[in-house]
This record gives sequence, structure tokens and C-alpha cells, in this order.
Amino acid sequence: MDTVVQKFGGTSVADADRIREVADNVARYRRRGDRVVLVVSAMGKETDHLLRLAEEVSSVRPGREMDMLITAGERKAVALVSMALADIGVPSASFTGSQAGFITDTNHMAAKIIEVKGDRIRAALDAGQVPVVAGSQGYSTDGDVTFLGRGGSDTTAVALAEMLGADSCELYTDVSGVFTTDPRLVPEATKIKRISFDEMLEMAATGCPKPAMRSVEYASRHGVALHVRSAFTWEPGTWIVEEEPDMEQAVIRGITQDPSQAKVTVANLPDRPGVAGTLFRALANRHVNVDMIVQNTSEAQKTDISFTVPHDELEVTLEEANALMGELGASGVSASADIARVSVIGAGMKSHPGVAATMFETLADNDINIDMISTSTIRISCVVAQVDAERAVRLLHKCFGLGDGDEAVEFDA
Ligand code: ADP
Ligand code: ASP
Ligand code: MG
Repeated sequence: MDTVVQKFGGTSVADADRIREVADNVARYRRRGDRVVLVVSAMGKETDHLLRLAEEVSSVRPGREMDMLITAGERKAVALVSMALADIGVPSASFTGSQAGFITDTNHMAAKIIEVKGDRIRAALDAGQVPVVAGSQGYSTDGDVTFLGRGGSDTTAVALAEMLGADSCELYTDVSGVFTTDPRLVPEATKIKRISFDEMLEMAATGCPKPAMRSVEYASRHGVALHVRSAFTWEPGTWIVEEEPDMEQAVIRGITQDPSQAKVTVANLPDRPGVAGTLFRALANRHVNVDMIVQNTSEAQKTDISFTVPHDELEVTLEEANALMGELGASGVSASADIARVSVIGAGMKSHPGVAATMFETLADNDINIDMISTSTIRISCVVAQVDAERAVRLLHKCFGLGDGDEAVEFDA
């Protein structure tokens, strides 16, 4: 008898018909003899809706109250899913994050899981029920309700799968797996059958929303294999697994884009030890997540430093950088929010020269200017103007031969 954790995203439970379809799928697994645990997100766009309401009502929005508000979305969804199961004769019980035993830190809106005490979930399973657990929530060491953050339901599912020693963890969504790029943007995108945690982490970190980054980190750390698949067609999807020796190494596995960052440049800094340390320590103290950093070669002992930060951290970043200008001896601070990072990812690039050259030439041949470049062993990222990003993704997807129905094709470097 297999134990299967199944997580359903917002679109998968968006209305009554969808919820009934999910219940029918659970019944199919039960007929096969599986023990099923469900994790459910808020219905449709409910989380966005609640966030908007909070903005309309208050400019203060204390974290504790935000978490109380947002977790209401998942709470509604689990009750309805459990009722739909009852309707077709499947015994089940819904659980909030705290009832399911998710203990978190006190960091509201982005709480981290400290421990999962799954007693009630195990008891429900032993009693022959399907536990239906509210995603992305828990209770803090201070005893308050907490929200794990956007996309946190994927992490709830992985943590439950780990805690139960489940045989599989299925993340159901509105596309049939992880694709070589966003299939809504590039219809020729190909479904990836198997991908390693390392490649998936790079894709998630650079803009692929599925599965959520933190859930991939959690799964990779605990060796939980993930299966991303469709709640609409129910066909087999993408397996995210530990790299296997016989795994086909694609030169390029996928292309991502991320328009969520802004670029900041501090100009004419003196080229001496300690300047970068002072600047980035000040930003770290304000909890700014700096991503790409580029320092220009110095001329006359002066240099520029450019870096990217999330849009919603731009304001504090500019505050800090401007406040430090005098102390650092810089001549100015400028920012641009209209940028996007375009990345190519693939473990095979480690042993395949020419990927960077091909990427840069393709962008140049199409008049797309590269603003910044960064790399890891299995990724190359370029910052380009936001208006060029989608075109860049389409061009790169084509030039690396990813739309040919074969996910691991060779290309001419
Ligand atoms: P859910 O709410 O079901 O958890 P999300 O809406 O967060 O799922 O993510 C699914 C969406 O991710 C898809 O609708 C798809 O448009 C988008 N997406 C972007 N890039 C990719 C990719 N490379 N592969 C699959 N989906 C992608
Ligand atoms: N409903 C929350 C969100 O949209 C949590 C989740 O679905 O993972 O971010
Ligand atoms: Mg989602």
C-alpha cells in the first residue's frame, strides 16, 4: 500500500466542478489501494484578492493580522474539498496548518517550518481517512497563526511527504509538468520528463514558478522525489529527482525569465578595500536580498558597482545607498526597474563549450543589449531591458533547439 501526498494549486480547486474532479481523482487512488494525503491551496486567485483587500483597508498591515487573513483562503478550500470527498463516500477530515502540527518561526508572511508533528495526520490515515491539509500555514513558537509565504503550499506538501516517509509527492497544477520554458509564452515548449534537483533549483531561482523554490530546496535536502503534473488531464508529468548516472545530460534544459528585480548603480566609488563591504552590510542590515553584483574595472581609482534587488526592496535600497554616498565618496546612485533577467540552465554546459557565446550572439543578432551577466556552473543569466525579455526567451528557446519535441538536442555552438 503506497502513501501518496497530493498537492493542488489554486487553479486546480478554483470552483465547485474542479473540487469535485479532485475528489474523483482521490477516489481513483483509493480504489487502487493507496493512502492519500491532500494539501490544498486557496481557491483560484483568492490569495491575491485577500492581499488587495488588506492594501485597501490599511497602510499598516501588521504581519500577525496579515497571516490571520491570508490563511483563511486555504481554510475555506480544505473544508470544501473534504465535503466533496464525503459526497462521494470517501471518509476524510480537513486540518489547518496548526492542527496538522506545522510549527514555524515567528516570521510572519514568510514563516519557516521548524518541525512537523504529524500525529493527527497519521491518526487520520490509520482511521482510513483522507487528511486534507491547508497549505502554506502553521503556528509559531509564539502560538500565532503563520503563513509560509507565496507558493508555500508546495513546501507543506514536501514536508508532509518527508514526515510520513511517503512513496510519492505529487504537485498538481494547471500545466502538465515543468517545461523547457513557460508553455503559455512559448507554445512549442517541451515537457521535461526528468530533471535533477540542481537544475530545478536554478530554474526556480531564476523565474520558473513551479515548483516553488523553497519546496525544491526542502525536497533536495531530504531526498523527496517530486512529480509535477496536471490536475486537468491527469497525465504523467515531470519527475524531479536526485541526479542519476544514466540521466541524460541536456546541454540546455530550460530557459527562464524573471522581471521581478530592479537594477541599482552606485557611481564613482573609490577603489579601495572596504567600500563594497560597507555598502552591502548596510543593505543586509535592512534585510535586502541582493542578487547579481557587477563591479566595473576602475579608472583613476574610481569604480561603479551595479546590483539587482527585488522591486519591493528598491525603496529601502535607495534610502541606504543615498545615505551612504558621503561616507563612501560616491558621486551618485541611479536605479532602473524596467529590467528582466533571462537565464539558460543545463547541467551539460559544464562540459560543453560555447553556450555563453551562443547566448550572447543570439541576443546581439536581434539587437537585444545585455546589461549585466552572471553565471553558475550550470546557468548563464543576462539582464536585459524588460521589453526585450519575452522575445529573448523565444529566441533562445529556438536557438538552443528546445522546441523540437526532444528536450536534450545538440546545438551548434
Ligand atoms: P500552482 O498555483 O498550481 O501551484 P503556479 O500558478 O504557481 O502553480 O505555477 C504554474 C504556472 O507556471 C503555469 O501556469 C505556467 O504558466 C507557469 N510556468 C512558467 N514557467 C514554466 C515552466 N518552465 N514550466 C511549467 N510551468 C511554467
Ligand atoms: N495560496 C498561496 C499563494 O497563492 C499559497 C500557495 O498556493 O502555495 O501563494
Ligand atoms: Mg500558486
